[in-house]
Amino acid sequence: MIVVMAVGATDKEAEDVRELIKGSGLSSHDNIGTQRVVIAVLGDVAPQREHLMSKLSVMPGVDTVTAISRPFKLTSRESHPEDTIVELAGTRVGNGTLTIMAGPCAIENREMMLATARAVAASGATILRGGAFKPRTSPYSFQGLGLEGLKHLQEAGKETGLPTITEVMEPSQVDVVAEHSDILQVGTRNMQNYSLLTAVGKAGKPVMLKRGYGATIEEWLMAAEYIVSSGQPNVILCERGIRTFETYTRNTLDLTAVPLLHHLTHLPVVVDPSHATGKRWLVKPMALAAVAAGADGIMVEVHPRPDDAMSDGEQSLTYEQFADVSAALLKIHEEVRTLIKDPYAMTGPMKVGGSSKH
Ligand code: PEP
Ligand code: MN
Repeated sequence: MIVVMAVGATDKEAEDVRELIKGSGLSSHDNIGTQRVVIAVLGDVAPQREHLMSKLSVMPGVDTVTAISRPFKLTSRESHPEDTIVELAGTRVGNGTLTIMAGPCAIENREMMLATARAVAASGATILRGGAFKPRTSPYSFQGLGLEGLKHLQEAGKETGLPTITEVMEPSQVDVVAEHSDILQVGTRNMQNYSLLTAVGKAGKPVMLKRGYGATIEEWLMAAEYIVSSGQPNVILCERGIRTFETYTRNTLDLTAVPLLHHLTHLPVVVDPSHATGKRWLVKPMALAAVAAGADGIMVEVHPRPDDAMSDGEQSLTYEQFADVSAALLKIHEEVRTLIKDPYAMTGPMKVGGSSKH
């Protein structure tokens, strides 16, 4: 349930609303917008929904009370009509900015991390990526440099002035990763690792949550809800492809997720065409398509010599390819901004749970 306070409602009126919610055995969460306060009611609302709605709607300072039948609350567009903008040193994610996250799949050594950072920074990257803890399908594959890798990433970020992002695989790594990186990444294999989601939510750093390769959009938003309800409002969603019967590509890139998510949630959405396709030559067209669909940015893998990469070489771009993709993205982004001024206003109300599938 969402209580939208009127423009000009007093602090006391908002406090009375919170008190009534608390007195009903529920909890509240404020979203302070530029114009007004929106109070989300959290907990098992269903048994007292009608009673509570009628009580709240006549309280002084209350504009509207709406029942949210979606299972995700804090991440829903209804509870937070304005887009969330993730502010980082020197850049932001959301609100019309084109975010370009780039860097190696895995940090292999200091030199390659620094060289890749310089190359992508010179060609338009706004955030630097690099994997230090690598979730690998095979226990015999390179598992990443761990703490040493984090230090190389941090140094490369400082030198280039780019904020950094890296994956954290388990709760015990959260503190050390948060100490060395600006954004914590939760990977596809961990999207429903609820103890990790809670731990990253408490770490005080923005989080990028990649979509589980077998997860529905609702499950993904519920996972984001864990992070936000643990205390971290700055969550970026990353569509990275889902598993289907198709075998030509590593995954199937679900671009419908982009406008759909903008309708359902206020969180920024980026797309990773590297893991989605698994093929270098497919990265550019799908990156362009993602931005054309309204994505707030993309994440791509770049390597000094992709053919010698210790992981994901097949899908990694050379420096030259990255520069080409980056320049093309800027053009598409400029066009899209003028073509879709307010993409969310074009969407009508959506049935809970979406359409039935066959
Ligand atoms: C990654 O971005 O390094 C990664 C492992 O991606 P995913 O979790 O999407 O497979
Ligand atoms: Mn990778």
